[in-house]
Amino acid sequence: MWIDSHAHLSAPEFDADREAVLDRAVAAGVSALVAIGAGYGVDECGKAVALAERDERIFATVGVHPHDASLLDDPARRRLEALAGHPRVVAVGECGLDYHYLRSPREVQRSVFAEQLALARRAGLPVSIHVRGDDSTAYDDLLEIWRSEGAGALEGVLHCYTGTLGFARRALDEGLLVSFSGILTFKKDRGLREVAAALPLERLLVETDSPLLAPEGFRGRRNEPVHVTRVGEALAAAQGRKPQEVAEATTRSARRLFGLDSRRNPGGGGV
Ligand SMILES: [Zn+2]
Ligand SMILES: [Zn+2]
Repeated sequence: MWIDSHAHLSAPEFDADREAVLDRAVAAGVSALVAIGAGYGVDECGKAVALAERDERIFATVGVHPHDASLLDDPARRRLEALAGHPRVVAVGECGLDYHYLRSPREVQRSVFAEQLALARRAGLPVSIHVRGDDSTAYDDLLEIWRSEGAGALEGVLHCYTGTLGFARRALDEGLLVSFSGILTFKKDRGLREVAAALPLERLLVETDSPLLAPEGFRGRRNEPVHVTRVGEALAAAQGRKPQEVAEATTRSARRLFGLDSRRNPGGGGV
C-alpha cells in the first residue's frame, strides 16, 4: 500500500473525473491521499477539506503557498485558523519559500511562512513545506525560520525535494522528513536519484504533487495519484530495495507524521 502524501486533488484539472482518478489510485494500492489546500489562491484551502469530509481515503491540509503569500489577508487568516482545527485537517501547508518564481516578495514569503509555523504549533499539526530557489538562499532562509519558529516543537516534510544532499541532511538533522515526487523518475535528473540513494528510507515520503509533475513516460500530461507507485518504484531502484519495502516504510512514516491513525471521519467510522 502507498500513500500519496501531497496531491492537489481539489484542482480544477480533476473536476471532470475526480472519482475515477481516485478509483484508479486505490486500485493500484494507494490507501490514503493528502489533499493539499494551498497553491490555487488563498480561497482554495476549504475545497481540500470538503473533499476530505466526503471521502475517508482523503485527508486535507490548509495553508498558503509561497506564491500566494502576498494575498494573505485577515479574512483568509481567520479562515485558516478555523480550518486548522477541523478533524480532517492533518497538516498546515504547503507553505515555505519559493525564490525561483518570486511571485510574492521574499520578505512577505518569510513572514507568512513564520506565521504558518506558528499556526501549526497552535493547532498541533505538522507542516508540508515547499522550498525552491536558484541558489542556497531560499534553503538557508527556510532553515533559519524553521529553527526559530518550528524546530523542537513541530514536525514537517520538505515536499517535492529537488535540493542538494547536503541540505537534505541538514533538514533531517532538524527533524524534518523529505518527500520525493515524479521528478525522481525524470531521465535527466540523475543527481536527484543519487540524493535519494543516500538518505535513510525511514525518513522519506513519496508524493505526486498532481496534477503537475507527471513521471517519465507521462510527461506533459496531467499527473494523478496512481503515479505515486512510479515514484516509489524509482525510490526503490535508487536505494536498491524492493518496492514493497519502500511502500511499507513510506506509508508508515506518512501515517505517523500526519497522525492518520488517530483521525476519524465525523460522518462515519474510523479510518
Ligand atoms: Zn510545492
Ligand atoms: Zn504542491
